[in-house]
Amino acid sequence: MKAVRFHAQGDLRVEDLDEPTVGPGEVKLKVEWCGLCGTDLHEYTAGPIFVPTRDAPHAVTGESAPVVLGHEFSGRVVECGEEVARVSRGDNVAVEPLVRDNTCNACQRGLYNVCDNVGFHGLSGGGGGLSEYTVVPEFMVHRLPDGMSTEIGALIEPIAVGWHAVQQANFRAGQTALVVGAGPIGLVTVLALEAAGARWVAVSEMADARKKKAEQFGADLVLDPQEDDVAAKVHELTGGGVDAAFECTGKKSTLETAVHSARRHGVVCNVAIWEQPTELRMNDLVFTEVALTSSLAYAHDFPAVLAAVQDGRIDASQLITARIDLEDVVRGGFEELVDNKDQHVKILVRP
Ligand SMILES: [Zn+2]
Repeated sequence: MKAVRFHAQGDLRVEDLDEPTVGPGEVKLKVEWCGLCGTDLHEYTAGPIFVPTRDAPHAVTGESAPVVLGHEFSGRVVECGEEVARVSRGDNVAVEPLVRDNTCNACQRGLYNVCDNVGFHGLSGGGGGLSEYTVVPEFMVHRLPDGMSTEIGALIEPIAVGWHAVQQANFRAGQTALVVGAGPIGLVTVLALEAAGARWVAVSEMADARKKKAEQFGADLVLDPQEDDVAAKVHELTGGGVDAAFECTGKKSTLETAVHSARRHGVVCNVAIWEQPTELRMNDLVFTEVALTSSLAYAHDFPAVLAAVQDGRIDASQLITARIDLEDVVRGGFEELVDNKDQHVKILVRP
């Protein structure tokens, strides 16, 4: 079968691999669609970051580079191992690709997204979605509701990232929000906020193409920090600041914007993965009693996201900006994202 493997920085190869075999408690999938993620791009341009290296194989998969990429995907069940009860052959599923050890303290508390040995199917070894077939444990699959296409099924994973952030912020219907950064993560956070019944959502973004996307995705106001004092504008328009501000960029200045835009007793939720340590005036939190929280991936969010997409609270299709074949993944996928990142939200790959 054809699969895309990460060998080293800038070295992705479409290769012929043996089809994986299914064991007890496992499900074999024919991958239908797989989205490309900023994380995948980061591995290509600056990796290995999450991909395990030979001197430090992943604790759960035991594998290291080369590994199959692709963790945002849907598939059709072609074979079930013994003891598999929740799905059967022919079902279409979305994959929740978090690899975990199922034994650490976090896992025992149900917090599997912050497992001591967390990883991703499609980054950490054990297979991935940029592949004709892959085998996953049964706990990773969620059956698609009747009538939902596998194309939409591949978008459940990125939407779940925004959905989880909104849960982490304890966001309630009728509240107001600021999303800082309108890349793919910022945009899915906007979608999740609208589904949660937000009264007013503002977005702060500098790139023109992304500003336009934020408007299309339903932001009530798009501010540009090059032209506007974002926090001052937010305070003026909301009468004291937003209930929740989401930091989706990972820069000192944008974190400050989020903190300064929150109302007294509001919440700042960090969704960004940071490349560097940062400084924050802690008294900006103390004197406002603003809470700073974080969000990583998702846990227990897929059923709610599937329901929100199915009943129309979220229009997932607008995330798709291109569809390509597996053979074209380097030029039409990764290189396209390097050259035109701001133009794209999700490039879907058909293995
Ligand atoms: Zn664990």
